[in-house]
Amino acid sequence: MGCPHLCSFCNQNIISGSSLAPTIPQVKTILDESLNTLGERARNAQIAFFGGSFTAIPRDYMIELLSAAQPYIGDDGFGGIRISTRPDCIDEEILTLLKNSNVTAIEIGIQSMDDDVLLLNDRGHTGSDVVNAAHLISSFGLELGAQMMIGLYADNEHTIRHTASEIVRLGFDTVRIYPVAVLKGTKLAMLYNNGQFIPPTIEAAVDICADLIVYFTNKNIDIIRVGLHASDVVEKDFIAGIYHPAFRELCESKIYYRIIDSEINSKAGNYTVQANSREISKVIGQNKSNVRNFSAQGINLKIKSNDSLGKYQVVILKEV
Ligand code: SF4
Repeated sequence: MGCPHLCSFCNQNIISGSSLAPTIPQVKTILDESLNTLGERARNAQIAFFGGSFTAIPRDYMIELLSAAQPYIGDDGFGGIRISTRPDCIDEEILTLLKNSNVTAIEIGIQSMDDDVLLLNDRGHTGSDVVNAAHLISSFGLELGAQMMIGLYADNEHTIRHTASEIVRLGFDTVRIYPVAVLKGTKLAMLYNNGQFIPPTIEAAVDICADLIVYFTNKNIDIIRVGLHASDVVEKDFIAGIYHPAFRELCESKIYYRIIDSEINSKAGNYTVQANSREISKVIGQNKSNVRNFSAQGINLKIKSNDSLGKYQVVILKEV
């Protein structure tokens, strides 16, 4: 709702899982139910208006939604509101309104910082719109979030890495990384069916997203999401590209594979790998993929938990 463009990859009714904008009573019902479920934990949670471009929907409706949320914010309620929107739908006037309505975080759909990629995917904005929006949002003291895509039409490794470095340079606090999914009824679907667009393979997407996770983690950017949310509707309309319900875990397993591989350095033998118990499943890999891949090289791994270790830290001991 409210989108001035139709981006090449987007069928927003499919992505949001609903073709209906919520009514105010529906919003209140959702918030009542969520508050009941979360109790005191709600203080550390936010109300999110996502899907579509929140600041571009009809102003009266936007204000009604924000007003409906107000009684649910505060000591006995939620910690604030987060919204998602487009970079060219942000200005000082709207930011003043949002800040006065307890909005604490704004995520902008960047997708790419390459103007050719943006143009060819019908985004209707440029990289300089992102730069302006990021500066404005930061100047209002709001948490700044980026949503980027991997593997759009005309995208490549260079444009993806450029987008990531711009996200760091512009001081984003959070990022969501979405590998491209080709959905029925979109421009990408048409290009794909004509043979003009080939989305990345899941292996290539995992490789580049593993790099991005390490990069953003080292730059202290909170990675909120990697991969599309699981949804029956996306599954129904998915034609090609990347849609895996545990995509982030695949990427993190790849990171552990690389860490272990660089320490063992292809020397066959029996090893014990220690990692934090919360990370063990990623160290092992889905369907034991890491363990099996090493085993195929004559490297046998025993995985043990060691909770003194942090994320992406391992201790490797060779059995003699
Ligand atoms: S701006 Fe966002 S919601 Fe609107 S068409 Fe593009 S991707 Fe979809």
